[in-house]
Amino acid sequence: MPESDPFTFVNRVANRVARSLPRQLVNIAPSRPIVSFTFDDIPESAASTGAAVLEQHGVRGTFYVAGGLAGRDFDGQPMLDDAGYARLAGAGHELAHHTFSHQPPASLGLGYGADLQRNDIYLAGIDARVRRNFAFPFGLTSPNGQREVDRRYRSGRGVLPGINRGLVDLGYLHSVELKPCFETAELQSWIDGALSPPGWVIYFTHDVQDEPSEFGCQPAVLDQLVRHALESGCEVLTVDAALDRLGIAA
Ligand SMILES: [Zn+2]
Repeated sequence: MPESDPFTFVNRVANRVARSLPRQLVNIAPSRPIVSFTFDDIPESAASTGAAVLEQHGVRGTFYVAGGLAGRDFDGQPMLDDAGYARLAGAGHELAHHTFSHQPPASLGLGYGADLQRNDIYLAGIDARVRRNFAFPFGLTSPNGQREVDRRYRSGRGVLPGINRGLVDLGYLHSVELKPCFETAELQSWIDGALSPPGWVIYFTHDVQDEPSEFGCQPAVLDQLVRHALESGCEVLTVDAALDRLGIAA
């Protein structure tokens, strides 16, 4: 959700360089397909409406929090505040990391680690059980940023669509964006594609409302995807629970 354009020349080059470097890969081979529903930033509607859709199906989601946005208006959306994050954690959802300032690593340079640390402290103040999963704002990484994320977190998530299956970069997991320009059938086909051999689909979105922003999702679409995942025999797990299921070291 860019407030000012993060896709500067420097950020794009740093991202491309980081993505071209050799990476250590892990083998993702679940016995049953896994689907995770994740939310970034986080708009209030994701926590109220989005979390409620998941809870109606008895499942939980992962919420990638940028502490610097808490309680603010961001990109036309009211963002969740500290009390809202505490409620999400109390309901069994996973709070995860998304930087404090919501900036790409190349914009922060050597200050990136301090920014990650600031968000760690922010989230630790809300929920002592916060686990170590991260999503890159705008999907933008950099050589230094990727090193920091690899060192600090159990996983990192980008925004490149794909099924996580076979040899996968745990520091830059694939994820499929839920936004209004995609047909529900097209979004649902990612689940069908992950059934055999079993893989892991991570969806991400922002606001969840009947008239979503261009980065958001309608509750009916989210409901349909959760239903389809469960009816297809997938496990619907938070990112951290999925990593446990995959036998990946905490
Ligand atoms: Zn974000």
